Amino acid sequence: MTYCEMYELALKNLAPREHGSGFSSGSVSAVMEGANGRYYCGVNLDLYCGLGFCAERSAAAAMVTDGETVIRRVVCVGENKKLWTPCGSCREFLSLLSPQNAETEFLVELEGEKTVRLRDLLPLPWQERSL
Ligand SMILES: [Zn+2]
Repeated sequence: MTYCEMYELALKNLAPREHGSGFSSGSVSAVMEGANGRYYCGVNLDLYCGLGFCAERSAAAAMVTDGETVIRRVVCVGENKKLWTPCGSCREFLSLLSPQNAETEFLVELEGEKTVRLRDLLPLPWQERSL
């Protein structure tokens, strides 16, 4: 799947909804390519008590459920159809799924398919350090 196709799939899944019970979803949509060559989709879940999670982690949960932890590429779009880079929490979360995810590419500009790698977004990820 090309980046353009991943972007179109992310747009297709973009579906902002108010669920009427202190919960909304779908204002952000992510498509993730696993190292197994499969694609995983996710949307944000926002609960009004402050809980919830981002589209990237939603897609990652589907990927891990399928037995994959290594991510090749990610495309994430918001309601304005613009590309989003991952928040700090997602950067850490995705980096901890596999050390190989330092090489994960995030699409930042559709024109020319400009990407940035996770290692550049998170140059010093969490890890235990010796004394
Ligand atoms: Zn996030």
